[in-house]
Order: sequence, then structure tokens, then C-alpha cells
Amino acid sequence: MSRILAKVAIIAVVSTAFSLAITGTIMTANGIYHKIGYVIAAVCPLLISPPISLIVLWQSEKLKRALEALRLVKEELEATNAKLFEKSTRDSMTGMLNREAFFNHVNHVRSRQACSLLIIDVDHFKKINDVHGHYVGDAALMAIARCICDCMGIDGITGRIGGEEFGVCLLTDNPSTVEAIAEDIRREVGQLVFVTTDDTPVALSVSIGGSADISSDTVADHFQIADRKLYEAKRHGRNCVFIHANFRKAA
Ligand code: GH3
Ligand code: MG
Ligand code: MG
Repeated sequence: MSRILAKVAIIAVVSTAFSLAITGTIMTANGIYHKIGYVIAAVCPLLISPPISLIVLWQSEKLKRALEALRLVKEELEATNAKLFEKSTRDSMTGMLNREAFFNHVNHVRSRQACSLLIIDVDHFKKINDVHGHYVGDAALMAIARCICDCMGIDGITGRIGGEEFGVCLLTDNPSTVEAIAEDIRREVGQLVFVTTDDTPVALSVSIGGSADISSDTVADHFQIADRKLYEAKRHGRNCVFIHANFRKAA
């Protein structure tokens, strides 16, 4: 407020000075001198300019504050939008990408670098739910998801693509490397020490199907290939890895 009043005072002084100067110039040019003319030239701007400049400056200050508030709201909205977008791409239980985001991501990555696809399915998961309840089933899913992420490190793209099914995109098209990483995941899940709230141990295992080198065809084609390999792994007794490229390793 004091800043506005200071500006009002400056404007009043300046406009009075200009008014006096203009009046003096006109009077001198016409060879007349009226004291009252100078009084009017000084009083008019002093009466008119302060209220008008006060209103204008006050409104402009209000506008500035409104613009600043709008800028803050816009920043908050952008941050909320970014969080919402991040949330819409994530599976809330495991924190992994959801199915749609995972396959979008795979499609994006495979156009830029060599990669492969794994589908990981928890073995006899229905039985875990049936024997220990859904709460334990959920906890088992979270433990397995964490284990998969740990095996993948920061480079891995992981997603929960179904109830007890996970997708992994590996940044390599080398079938031996793909098989080795899939084996690591299978082994690590098998070694998880998972117990219920009353300390009952629950054995966990996964079957893995994969398609090495997914640069050609469509992601859906490779998903089908990996899915067929997963089916083979299940038929083979579960807890094993089958990768397209004729590699196979039983537990
Ligand atoms: P398989 O070894 O052949 O894969 O047998 P499975 O029992 O794992 O497969 P099935 O498809 O018969 O059962 C999957 C079960 O996973 C059934 C479903 O109730 C359960 N499930 C799916 N999503 C969730 C979830 O978010 N939480 C829990 N607790 N269970 C889930
Ligand atoms: Mg399944
Ligand atoms: Mg299963």
C-alpha cells in the first residue's frame, strides 16, 4: 500500500509540475499573466490525479496478484496432471506399469533398441488364494513383483499384465542372455522366503515364456509367441523357462 501511495504522490507532483509548465508557456506566449491561472493549474492536477492514479494503481496491483495466483494454480495443475498420468500408467498394488502402459512402452523401446519379451506367470496361484486367503495372495504378488524388479535392476521395464502375470522387457536380443535373466528371475522367486501372518511358509514359483528379439512383426505377435512358450513351461511341470529360439531349461 505504501508503494502505491508513494507512486500516487509522485504522479501528483509530476502532473502538477507539467500543468504549471504548460500554463506558464501558454501565458508567456500570449503575453498575459494571471496569478489565479497558476493556482488553477496547480490545484486541478492535485485534485484530479491522486484519486484516478490511486484507482488505476490499485487495480493494476490486484491484477498482478491475480496473475501470480493464476501462475501458482497452473503450476499446481501441471504437477497434479503429471502425478495423475503417472498413476494412470501404474498398477497400484505392485507399482509396476499396468498392462496398457507396459505394451506401449515395449512398442516404444523396441523401435529404438534391441529387446526381448518375457511373460512370467505365478504357478498354482489360485491354490495360494484358496489355502491362505486373498490377503496372503496379494502379499505374495507384491513379493514376487519386488523380486522381479530386483532381478531386473534399473534398466528393466516391468509390468503387471494380468492378475498373477507379469511382463518384462529385456534390453537385449541375445537369446542366451534372455534365458539367463529369465532363469535368474525363476530361481530368485523360488528362493523367496515368504510366510503368512502366522508364520506358515508358502512356496512360490513362476513359469516363464519368452520371445528373444522382438524387433520384427508386432508386439502382439511376440506376446503370442511368449504366451505359447509359457504354456509349454506350464505343461512341462511349471517352475521353468521356455524361450522362443529353441532354448529350454527345466528347474
Ligand atoms: P497356473 O499354475 O496354471 O498358472 O495356475 P494358477 O492357479 O496360477 O492360475 P489360475 O488362472 O487358475 O488362477 C489365477 C488366480 O489368480 C485366480 C485369481 O483369483 C487370482 N488372482 C488374480 N488377480 C489377483 C489379485 O490381484 N490378488 C489375488 N489375491 N489373487 C488374484
Ligand atoms: Mg495366469
Ligand atoms: Mg498362474
